[in-house]
Amino acid sequence: MAAVRTRYAPSPTGYMHLGNLRTGLYAYLTAKKDGGQFILRIEDTDQGRLQEGAVQAIYDTLGRVGLRHDEGPDVGGPYGPYVQSERLEIYHRYAEELIERGGAYRCFCTPEETEAQRAAARLHKRPFKDERCRALTPDDVAQRLASGMPSVVRQRTPLTGTTSYDDVVFGHIAVDNAELDDSVLLKSDGFPTYNFANVVDDHLMRITHVMRGAEYLSSTPKYVLIYEAFGWDVPVHVHLPVINKSATEKLSKRHGDASFEDYYSKGYLPEAILNYVALLGWAPGNDEEFFTLEELVGNFSFAGLSKSPSIFDPVKLRWMNGEYIRRLPFEEFHRLALRWYPENVRECPVDLLALSRLMHTRTAVLSEIPEQIDFVAALPDYDPALYTHKKMKTDTAIALRSLEAARGTLGSLTSFGHEEVHAALEALAAELGVKNGQVMYPVRVALSGKEFTPGGASELSELFGRDEALRRIDVGIEKLSGA
Ligand code: GLU
Repeated sequence: MAAVRTRYAPSPTGYMHLGNLRTGLYAYLTAKKDGGQFILRIEDTDQGRLQEGAVQAIYDTLGRVGLRHDEGPDVGGPYGPYVQSERLEIYHRYAEELIERGGAYRCFCTPEETEAQRAAARLHKRPFKDERCRALTPDDVAQRLASGMPSVVRQRTPLTGTTSYDDVVFGHIAVDNAELDDSVLLKSDGFPTYNFANVVDDHLMRITHVMRGAEYLSSTPKYVLIYEAFGWDVPVHVHLPVINKSATEKLSKRHGDASFEDYYSKGYLPEAILNYVALLGWAPGNDEEFFTLEELVGNFSFAGLSKSPSIFDPVKLRWMNGEYIRRLPFEEFHRLALRWYPENVRECPVDLLALSRLMHTRTAVLSEIPEQIDFVAALPDYDPALYTHKKMKTDTAIALRSLEAARGTLGSLTSFGHEEVHAALEALAAELGVKNGQVMYPVRVALSGKEFTPGGASELSELFGRDEALRRIDVGIEKLSGA
């Protein structure tokens, strides 16, 4: 058995959709599990859909998630070029050979003529097979070509019989050849279609396992016919289930939030995205959910692939990202978090390491950091109604009494560590005969001007230090006295 060779064959048409990333990941795992090769091929034959910068986005994404390719446009390899637009001459050569072998024919119909034949086929509920051009003799063809008539190359699908293959995930797939359309293989602009290029390239690049989205499941019999017409071995096919946004909706680029870049730029960690994406269509067979790329290589198997659509759950991805953030070494988190600290926070006198220690366990997505810490550099102007909190059993009167007492307690503390502050405020609550929250909550609001904060009253006190903490408490007292 030849060494496993898989390929990731994205079209550079925009950002990397998470479904495409998953295909790339599974192809990588399939190769690496077996000590094989993972190849990157850029499928840019649909020139109208190309997007500037999309190839770079592919390299960037693969690099960020650690899917290193063994062969590809940038690293070279023995079966290049690895960009389809640089292989046109190869497709032309193989198209001629396929015509000679009876697997294809030249079609000289104008778009209008083709459309008329298609309409007739639809009317009779027949697939489209271009009877006129199929019947042209080699001489007819030569003459038309010599006279400069534009043409395309179409697949000559058989009129009878069946074509089948066994998909690893979806099982035995068989179609009646009479049902197949004669699709275009080579366009009049000289570019191949996917229908042709994928077969020629997968064969020439010695791909052993073709992994791609289930949307190709039903056209694969046509590709099998091309392999057979050339007398080539058909690779193993592994079609992957669609990823849905909900029970009824497909996850598409139009949803905006479906690309790697969207999540990456929002402060999701590449490893978390990759881990989550790995579970969209594959299950390890136990309860484990957290996998490094290396662990995925060790655990991945075709047996865990599912054919039912998987549902993309952004809430789960967010949760998983938070877990990945918590598992980061503190220094690493601090380095990442600093990039999200607004300038006024980076320049204010608080200890940023201490701030990061508070944030490390309380951050699910890095981009949420700025709004969580917006109170650090400057106390926002807030409504004293914030002191009224049902669950904390506080209102403005209780808050005013607590803040005035807390001011005295905190002012006389000799050490301002959070443990000392906490003990002192707890003792104060007992002394006042109120619940802890009736002291802690008002102090926390006074320090932050917010209902939700990273860390409680004592942690924020330590972060700000005595002078700033007392100053903020004074602002609170003043607001409440006027209320
Ligand atoms: N270029 C195709 C796409 O992006 C690749 C399909 C395949 O992997 O063969 O959908």
